Amino acid sequence: MPRPILATIHTDALARNLDRARRAAVDSRVWAVVKANAYGHGIERVFESFRAADGFALLDLAEAERVRALGWRGPVLLLEGVFEPRDLELCSRLDLWHTVHCDEQIDMLAAHKTQVPQRVFLKMNSGMNRLGFAPERFRAAWTRLDALPQVDEISLMTHFSDADGARGVAHQLEAFERVTRDLPGERSIANSAATLRHAAATRCDWVRPGILLYGSAPDFPEHDAAHWQLQPTMTLSTRLISVQTLQAGDTVGYGSRFTAEGPMTIGVAAVGYADGYPRHCDTGTPVLVDGVRTRMVGRVSMDMITVDLTPVPQACFGSEVTVWGRASTGTVLPIDEVAKAAGTVGYELMCAVAPRVPVTVD
Ligand SMILES: *Cc1c(COP(=O)(O)O)cnc(C)c1O
Repeated sequence: MPRPILATIHTDALARNLDRARRAAVDSRVWAVVKANAYGHGIERVFESFRAADGFALLDLAEAERVRALGWRGPVLLLEGVFEPRDLELCSRLDLWHTVHCDEQIDMLAAHKTQVPQRVFLKMNSGMNRLGFAPERFRAAWTRLDALPQVDEISLMTHFSDADGARGVAHQLEAFERVTRDLPGERSIANSAATLRHAAATRCDWVRPGILLYGSAPDFPEHDAAHWQLQPTMTLSTRLISVQTLQAGDTVGYGSRFTAEGPMTIGVAAVGYADGYPRHCDTGTPVLVDGVRTRMVGRVSMDMITVDLTPVPQACFGSEVTVWGRASTGTVLPIDEVAKAAGTVGYELMCAVAPRVPVTVD
């Protein structure tokens, strides 16, 4: 028998979260961002739930091919654009729209032989300082692109650094609007956090939600998924494979990291850092046993964690352990809470579920 660990992808929740994005941006078309293999969920597993999106946005050309192979004929956008000249041939062949964020990409386009002009999204670096043309260089890039026979429509985009936090989007929005005011073309600026928190200020032709589609709050812990009416799309579950009875002073696991203060029972669950459970999690990280909330204790091992069974005295060999997501009882443990205990974000946990974990879809 395989180990009892399992990741379950909830297709209903994916579809509802997409609907939530639509309600947050009623006048916009929605890119379903499916980069990093749909944030670890698997492009093929999320595809049907996201069919109602207006397009798929991602950055790996092999992933774009997978979206086309699923029969999607609508827009596909490469968020980082092309990496080398021959990528443009694939853009032509698969009808991919692509981001243009640097002069080298314009050079590649200028040298590209194509019968069919391509749709591009010209990206401004409005303050993130990662990809894109600085505001003072943006119009020159636009003019260069506009003169190329290889280019069809030019859309305009930028990306926010602080849509989820105190600094907000105003400073970047100001730069973007000042420079693009009289340029034609569609606009795309909002990620999940901007779509939820700055809907009115960032309203435009296309929104680009990623994380919200996967049921994680982009601004946790200020707001949680329930606040934004988002549903968990991934459950990582396993079972207890052992129960130990401890006395005061007994220690648990590597480094004797946890010491029992009195008599207690602990359960050993079949999940560890080789499954993608973060080794940074320490005593206190929440976990559900038989749907009851308790805590992880001691150090995370490669294949096991240990959990405090005090609140679930009936738990035994085989009891259900919910690492994150939804227990059979219906109780939810938000992935964001586990991420916070590990000093990271939900994005990283869902992307890091290891290949050895079997995945099912419900
Ligand atoms: C990943 C990404 C998004 C989606 O971001 P979320 O925070 O997951 O909503 C949007 N736009 C770009 C350019 C991205 O790279």
